[in-house]
Amino acid sequence: MKKVTIAKGDGIGPEIMEAVLKIIKSTKASIEFEEIEIGEKVYLSGNSSGISDDSWNIIRTNKVLLKAPITTPQGGGYKSLNVTMRKALGLYANIRPCVALHPYVKTKFPNLDVVIVRENEEDLYAGIEHQQTDEVVQCLKLISRPGCEKIIRYAFEYAKNYGRKKVTCFSKDNIMKQTDGLFHKVFKEIAVEYPDIEANHMIIDIGTAYLADHPEKFDVIVTSNLYGDIISDVAAQIAGSVGLAGSVNIGNECAMFEAIHGSAPDIAGQNIANPSGLLQAGIAMLNHLGFSNEATKIQNAWLKTIEEGIHTADIYDENISTKLAGTKEFAEAVIKNL
Ligand code: NAD
Repeated sequence: MKKVTIAKGDGIGPEIMEAVLKIIKSTKASIEFEEIEIGEKVYLSGNSSGISDDSWNIIRTNKVLLKAPITTPQGGGYKSLNVTMRKALGLYANIRPCVALHPYVKTKFPNLDVVIVRENEEDLYAGIEHQQTDEVVQCLKLISRPGCEKIIRYAFEYAKNYGRKKVTCFSKDNIMKQTDGLFHKVFKEIAVEYPDIEANHMIIDIGTAYLADHPEKFDVIVTSNLYGDIISDVAAQIAGSVGLAGSVNIGNECAMFEAIHGSAPDIAGQNIANPSGLLQAGIAMLNHLGFSNEATKIQNAWLKTIEEGIHTADIYDENISTKLAGTKEFAEAVIKNL
C-alpha cells in the first residue's frame, strides 16, 4: 500500500480533485490518500505561509503529493505557497507536456507535441523581493551553475529516455548576459554530452513567437523558471485549453503532481471545470508510484472519452463535440471507459 498526500486546494480545486480521486479509486490501485488543508483557508486563519507545520510533516513523510490549485490572497504579506513548496521540497524540475488531441479537440496545431522542462527553484521566483524606498521595489533574479546543470541535464536525460530528438534552450542572454548568459553557457556545455540529440537555442521573445505559430517544430524546451511558467500556458492553450495539461514537480526526495492552471475562481463551484489537467498529473503520479497498468488504463479511458466527443465547456465545439459534460459527468464517462 502506497501513501499519497492530497490537497484539494481552492476555487475549482475541490471539484476537480473529487473527479480525479473517483477515477483513480475506480482502478483499485493500492493507495491510501491522506488529506491536508493548505491555501486560502489557512492563509485567512492568520498563517501567512498558507500551510501548517503538521501538513509539512505529512508531505515530507509520504513524499508524494497530489495538489489541486490554490489561491494566494491578494495584497502584501502572503507568500506564494506554490513557490515555497517547490523550494522547500527541493523540487528542481517542473515537467509540463502539452500535446494536441487532433481531431478530437479543436486546435490550429494538430501536430503540437512539446514538453516544457522548467527550472523550478531559482530565477525571479527565488522569493528575493523587497521594497527599497517608498517608490522603488526590487526582485532579484538568481541563477546558479548547479541549478542550470541540474535542469539542463534533466532535459537531455528526459529526451533520451522518452525518445525525443531535440532540446531547445530559451533564454534572454542578449540582455541579461550574466544570469541568462550562464543558463545558455551551461546548455552548450551539457549539449555536447548528448551527440544523438539535436540542441539549439533561441532568444525567449522570438522563441515564444515561433512557439505560438509553429509549435510542431519544437520537441523538448528547457528554460528558466518564469519563462517556463509563461510558455507552458501558451503551449497548453494553443493545444486546446490550459485545462488539459498536467505537470510533474520532481526533486531528489519528494514529488508533487498538479495541473498547470490556477484555481479559476471565475468558474468555481459550477461543475464546469475540466479535470483533465489534474487527471494527467494523477496519471504521472501513478507511473511514478509504479502503478503503470492503472496509469495506462486511465490514460486510454480518458482518451476514449475525449474521442467520443464528451467535452467540458473549455474544449466544447459544436462541430466536434457530441456532449457538453460537467466536471462530474466527464469523470463518470472516463470511469465507464476504464
Ligand atoms: P487560472 O489558470 O486559474 O485561470 C485562467 C483562465 O483559464 C480562467 O478563465 C479559467 O476559468 C480558465 N481555466 C483554468 N483552469 C481551467 C479548467 N480546469 N477548466 C476550464 N477552464 C479553466 O489563472 P488565474 O485566473 O490567473 O489565477 C487564479 C488563481 O490561481 C490566482 O490566485 C493564482 O495565484 C492561482 N494560481 C495557482 C496555481 C497553482 O496552484 N499551481 C497556478 C497558477 C495560478
